[in-house]
Amino acid sequence: MKERKRFETRVIHEGYSSVGHSDSLAPPLYQTSTYTFQTAKQGERRFAGEEDGYIYSRLGNPTVSILEERMASLEGGEAALAFGSGMAAVSAVLFSLTKAGDHIVCSQGVYGCTFGLLELMEEKFGISHDFSPMDTEEEIRSKLTDRTTCIYVETPINPTMQLIDLELVSSIAKEKGIPVVVDNTFCSPYLQRPLEFGCDLVIHSATKYIGGHGDVIAGIVVGDQERMSTIRMTTQKDIGGIISPFDAWLLLRGLKTLAVRMDRHCESASKVAEQLKHHPLVETVIFPGQVEHPQHHIMTKQMKKPGGMISFTIKGGKEDAQRLMDELKMIKIAVSLGDAESLIQHPATMTHAVVPEEMRMKMGITDTLLRLSVGLEAYEDIWEDIENALNRIG
Ligand SMILES: *Cc1c(COP(=O)(O)O)cnc(C)c1O
Repeated sequence: MKERKRFETRVIHEGYSSVGHSDSLAPPLYQTSTYTFQTAKQGERRFAGEEDGYIYSRLGNPTVSILEERMASLEGGEAALAFGSGMAAVSAVLFSLTKAGDHIVCSQGVYGCTFGLLELMEEKFGISHDFSPMDTEEEIRSKLTDRTTCIYVETPINPTMQLIDLELVSSIAKEKGIPVVVDNTFCSPYLQRPLEFGCDLVIHSATKYIGGHGDVIAGIVVGDQERMSTIRMTTQKDIGGIISPFDAWLLLRGLKTLAVRMDRHCESASKVAEQLKHHPLVETVIFPGQVEHPQHHIMTKQMKKPGGMISFTIKGGKEDAQRLMDELKMIKIAVSLGDAESLIQHPATMTHAVVPEEMRMKMGITDTLLRLSVGLEAYEDIWEDIENALNRIG
């Protein structure tokens, strides 16, 4: 068996050797749409699967393959697939696990476009869904029907930062033979590896911490060889939401610093969360690293560190929340997360504006809730910017 290096080493080396690549230290960018066959017979053998080799870049590309091998290793899975966006990954997985009339159980609170996709699947194909807080065994069991073919979990939940016990969910799902899909975007494999807790498939919006530099839109799915091959040959090949070789190359470059970046994101977020808690204009701080967080015990069980995302509510109304954002000088108002730059957004009017108000309130996405992605700037500068803005609106 191949010697398995530590995580911090695998983000740099896994899946690539310069041998056979003109001794290039950096993985080469194969910016090509297709591959040439030496003979007609060779083309026939490749299409028949009798000979390994690339055919056409929608079916596979050497730069993308390095990324897929690296991501599979980091999540502890057998294989991975890269996509052109996180949503291309989510949709490929959900389409592959369901057919008309099936049912999905989903965590109470998901990424806004995942919510939109579930609605669309219901409307077009009669694939229904139920949301569940997934906080007890009875609650999870009560939502499963004999048509349930997928359990879909986000933890921490965007943007309310609630956590779901992955071991609890996967133990019930195993008993029923239902695959568990986890959107691991907020953690990256450095902080949380859902497959180790018995889950079946992991999805990333690689746009966020995996890329880490705010210059790529991409998605990743990791799982067992059989499911990954099925998705590769069906929903990925025929729907076609593939990643470009250049974006795969940028992700390989970003991944090299994943461990060091995450350490800094987590360290600064812990400090900012602590400061926010003591500011008189701040009503609540929701950060899994704080002992007051209702699922702090789940954080210590399944996450290495609490992450770089903080949600908080301020006193007042929607206008006050918007004024606070406008008063920030360095922190940018933007959706997305996991970048070097600190970013703030207002979920009720931005990422979760598509969610009907009643549902939003049930999820805890109020008009004064703000979501902060703590960047890699000096912690002091991040906090000063927020403190000054708070004081100006106060
Ligand atoms: C951003 C995001 C997505 C969607 O990813 P894209 O790369 O924007 O398509 C899915 N889930 C979560 C949790 C996200 O933050």
